[in-house]
Amino acid sequence: MAKVVPRPELNFWERIYFIEIFKGLATTLGHARKGLTDPAHFPTVNYPEEKPELPRDYRARHRLMKRADGSPRCVACYMCSTACPARCINIVAETSPDRHIEKRPVKFEIDLLLCVFCGYCVEACPCDAIRMDTKLGVMVHDNRADFVIDKTKLMDWDPKDYPVDDLTSQSAPGGARHADALARLQSGSDH
Ligand code: SF4
Ligand code: SF4
Repeated sequence: MAKVVPRPELNFWERIYFIEIFKGLATTLGHARKGLTDPAHFPTVNYPEEKPELPRDYRARHRLMKRADGSPRCVACYMCSTACPARCINIVAETSPDRHIEKRPVKFEIDLLLCVFCGYCVEACPCDAIRMDTKLGVMVHDNRADFVIDKTKLMDWDPKDYPVDDLTSQSAPGGARHADALARLQSGSDH
């Protein structure tokens, strides 16, 4: 059912607008003065000399997560490429030599020039194999080919980036729990 929104009754001074215009300008100038005289209110940084600290959940360049032995956690199920609205994920699967894992990606590429950074690939992945938390929000290259990132680049990250309370990620090589995870993998209890 439609909702009727009552129109406010304007008095004479509001109807001639001039007073309201000056009241609006006073508000704008008040904010401008606060921004210019109090640096805490100044919303800009001297980029690129100063880099803003991106929050961890900022959807930045992708990374492929790793198992404890350094291999990709991806099982080449194609769910990310199916969910991708830009059709920019190119995966080629092969049979995994590990009898516990059916497939693995022999090729995994993302064309960042087509990507719209929607995060659907991350949401679709059933095994948390792809994340967009690298904080790499600025990518500059002088040719289009460099914007296509392959498996090597997607797995080239330092797990020490992760906070210690992210136990899953700390199980990756370099992470604080890597030794435990590797021992579990070698004993067969990781599958
Ligand atoms: S972020 Fe969106 S557009 Fe980019 S690869 Fe993932 S699903 Fe595709
Ligand atoms: S959804 Fe996850 S496991 Fe499946 S292909 Fe994509 S990254 Fe790999």
